[in-house]
Amino acid sequence: MKALDIKRLRKSYGDFLALKGIDLEVNEGEVFALLGPNGAGKTTLIRILAEGLGYDSGEIRVFGEPLSKKTARLIGYAPQESIAYDLLTVEENLRFYADLYDAPRERVRELILEFSLPAKKKVKELSDGFKRRLNLAIALLYEPELLILDEPSAGLDVPSRRELWEAIGRLREGGKTILLATHYMEEAEALADRVAIMNEGTVIAVGTPEELKSLAGEGSVIHVEGILRGTERVKEEFPRTIEREDELRIAVEDSKTALPRIVELLVEAGSKIRTIRVEEPTLEDVFLKLTGRGLE
Ligand code: ATP
Repeated sequence: MKALDIKRLRKSYGDFLALKGIDLEVNEGEVFALLGPNGAGKTTLIRILAEGLGYDSGEIRVFGEPLSKKTARLIGYAPQESIAYDLLTVEENLRFYADLYDAPRERVRELILEFSLPAKKKVKELSDGFKRRLNLAIALLYEPELLILDEPSAGLDVPSRRELWEAIGRLREGGKTILLATHYMEEAEALADRVAIMNEGTVIAVGTPEELKSLAGEGSVIHVEGILRGTERVKEEFPRTIEREDELRIAVEDSKTALPRIVELLVEAGSKIRTIRVEEPTLEDVFLKLTGRGLE
């Protein structure tokens, strides 16, 4: 059975069409990532599923049932922002939400242990990483079948992000179906069995990370770091280029001929190259190939 089956979903805000007829299927037991830049429509889709936000047209089934108040208990939701009360302790928050959701109080203890949460600490004293874990724990109070996470690790430092990913990995091993939105391709690659790449209100590709990477086509990616000058000329000659501060990723057909040319262009313009590597394509390169721009 499908955990989620979405057909031709459309949603507008006034005149603006935020979801332009989305089709999506999420299998039971998989981790499914919605990957796309800000404004792609990920949060809109999630709010329709998890918050009852209205939509214009389309069909949504959750474990076979039409999305409605009746299916709400099947879905647990951790929004981007912390929903815990700052002045209450971790345990008090969990108790509060357990009562609100009519979940058994034993779950509070279980979740504190499962997520190694400091029960007696006030939420305002928690690090961002712990706040995210608490958000996740609250979403799991009534043991939903499908867990929906909006940008679960946005803004976290690398160690906290890894810890959160491990927690999500354990949930998946426990058989939960997880739908998560992210604009970090590392997050999609680290966690997801399948990924839907979204852009401007449409799903532009769906598949396993490996399947999607094969869409980037033959060829490889040249990754240059350093103090870079002359990047405009590189972009003219190699249009599939993503530029960030001190960094270029250039998708090329044939790295043997492209590499010396890229080095020449950069060095002529006065760049100080720190490292240069030839890499396999990433999901961001797939996005670049399909849309002509980077993910951020
Ligand atoms: P983010 O990562 O920023 O949350 P997203 O992919 O989740 O991005 P959405 O938040 O779903 O994107 O937004 C999709 C589009 O809809 C954006 O162009 C946004 O400006 C617009 N939008 C979102 N919410 C509203 C609203 N309440 N009213 C009007 N426009 C909205």
